[in-house]
Amino acid sequence: MKSERQRLHLEKLAEMKRGKSSPLKGRIMGPMSKENRLKISEGRKRYFANGGVGPRLGKKHSEITKEKMSQKALQRDKSSYVKSNETKAKMSLSKQQWWMIHPEMRMTLSIKYQGDKGSNWQGGKTLETIKIRNSFAYKEWKRAILQRDNFICQICGTRGGRLAADHIKPFSLFPELRTELTNGRTLCWGCHQNTNTFGGRINSYAQT
Ligand SMILES: [Zn+2]
Repeated sequence: MKSERQRLHLEKLAEMKRGKSSPLKGRIMGPMSKENRLKISEGRKRYFANGGVGPRLGKKHSEITKEKMSQKALQRDKSSYVKSNETKAKMSLSKQQWWMIHPEMRMTLSIKYQGDKGSNWQGGKTLETIKIRNSFAYKEWKRAILQRDNFICQICGTRGGRLAADHIKPFSLFPELRTELTNGRTLCWGCHQNTNTFGGRINSYAQT
């Protein structure tokens, strides 16, 4: 059972929701002060430390609510946040170019996330080849290839998007050519997968 106080509070909230009354109505809200934020943050911490739980913990939406939510989502105008493939490719390209012109940033991050300091550390089970592929020298090689080819797939001519630095003479058979610039070419992901050295096809390559 809800107490009288709770009932009044809920009524007030419902009224605010309907837009009938709100303590914030007509007030222009600036950013919260640092002290105020801290106060709220401390309050939440105390609440959780004393066994408080999030308002929806363990609760599930009913089927009707789910249906309503999905309908709303379908009606929503997505044009403001759904990006076209063209935009995505452009964003990817400018990101890649940003990293090109910040070698000091690459070095800093590379050192920072070495070994068990990285979020993807899986307890030292990395195989030797993965280790090489993740090494700074190897990543720099890939970057240099992409930059030299101006992010253009050397087979189909696509620019940007998901790109690979392909070893013309395969990585596993020519270890000495792994970071050789003349042995690399930029390929889009589709063309990369179609090479005769991709993945398991390396064995048939070795026999020719
Ligand atoms: Zn291609």
